[in-house]
Amino acid sequence: MTSPSLVWFRDDLRLADNPALRAAIDRGEPVIALYVLDEESPGIRPLGGAARWWLHHSLASLDERLRERGGALVLRRGAAGHVVREAVADVGAGAVFWNRRYGGAEREIDSSLKSALRAEGLEVASFAASLLHEPRTVTTGSGTHYSVFTPFWRACLALPAPRAPLPEPRTVDGPDHVPASDALDDWDLLPTRPDWAGGLRDTWEPGEPAARRRLTEFLAHDLPSYDRARDEPAAGATSLLSPRLRWGEISPFTVWHEAVGVDGAGGFLSELGWREFAWHTLYHSPDLATRNLRREFDAFPWPPLDPAHLEAWQHGETGVPLVDAGMRELWHTGYMHNRVRMVVASFLVKNLLIDWRLGEEWFWDTLVDADEANNPFNWQWVAGSGADAAPYFRVFNPELQAKKFDPQGLYISQWASEAPTEPIVDLGETRKAALAAYDEVKRAP
Ligand code: FAD
Repeated sequence: MTSPSLVWFRDDLRLADNPALRAAIDRGEPVIALYVLDEESPGIRPLGGAARWWLHHSLASLDERLRERGGALVLRRGAAGHVVREAVADVGAGAVFWNRRYGGAEREIDSSLKSALRAEGLEVASFAASLLHEPRTVTTGSGTHYSVFTPFWRACLALPAPRAPLPEPRTVDGPDHVPASDALDDWDLLPTRPDWAGGLRDTWEPGEPAARRRLTEFLAHDLPSYDRARDEPAAGATSLLSPRLRWGEISPFTVWHEAVGVDGAGGFLSELGWREFAWHTLYHSPDLATRNLRREFDAFPWPPLDPAHLEAWQHGETGVPLVDAGMRELWHTGYMHNRVRMVVASFLVKNLLIDWRLGEEWFWDTLVDADEANNPFNWQWVAGSGADAAPYFRVFNPELQAKKFDPQGLYISQWASEAPTEPIVDLGETRKAALAAYDEVKRAP
């Protein structure tokens, strides 16, 4: 009798540097890979449309790679706490392994599952694989967590270096009989009516091999100019690794170790530091997507929502060229350059006076890298309510930003040549109104 090892894949859709998979292989019993589409557990945020598209293709790629090595991916759907136990019973698993997650609801599910399975006599182990440093290990001198990035990152850099990545397994021995699995197509992750994913298909190749290739290409060609050109949306100077890191097609340990020896990599590595900071912040504040981190912002007097303004922003029809270019890039590709994300977010929150949570939701639905920590963290950063946030009175001027970072108008003409040219609001007037509204936050007790 064999007692297979179950590897529960989550945000780690890769074979290389996957400690849970490694533990299962080392145990020496047949390995069963499981992915659960959980849209039922309370507190689990349903994926947005662009994320579902990415997930479909990334799972297809992972399945193919497992098959090439002798394994296969089993797909199940439902509340994970229940579905994983059912899968364990179906296959007679003797051990379950996974890589850790850091969202509040996810941690609850995982820890109660761990206790339940252990109580049934199974071997269960979880591993650090998606953050360079476990949130519990980065603390201030007085044992609290950091709320300012620079000392946070300094503390990270003073810790022992992130562990070396694990090599990719050459074989993954599956069971003689592969357990029942849903068909990926039946999950309807891809849009059909209408199929709006053409721009995503033209832009991206999800899956571990493409992620790996992109890292190599970035390190060889783009990293040397990263610090100089990373703020220019037309320069193509950034890594485009965000969806790959989001889905765990490549591990931050791999990125770190391959970049750290390269001359001038400090700026790029500190962006990975912002990713760590956002996740550590979510770990300590699980309601990051819904609540102002700085509670005094609860007093912000948001005016009644003007739906026409929100729609103009979503569709890139505000008449402000850089904003429209960004929103159109997002709609077409599922991605937007970081500088432009800051500009469009500032415009929504401070020129249209629309609550950051509505912008965050739109990004959540349309970004292929929509990330439970990075997205709300950065929205709160722009809105002024977040950790180490931009001061509220720093209202990005989209015209000056365009002059500075898109001086030849290349980005704007690529994405917004057809956009309206009359702004829907006066930038100066709305800026004043935003600063006046902010006075209420300053007066809040
Ligand atoms: P690079 O410049 O090559 O950076 C390397 C990696 O560092 C990125 O892949 C990403 O994992 C991380 N990183 C870079 N900048 C940040 C940052 N400001 N915060 C956290 N991590 C960072 N990033 C997401 O991954 N998912 C999101 O949902 C997301 N939403 C955002 C919303 C707003 C309003 C803003 C202003 C930023 C958001 N970002 C988000 C951060 C950032 O814009 C993207 O990570 C970056 O543009 C991705 O491109 P890149 O991989 O080429 O970045």
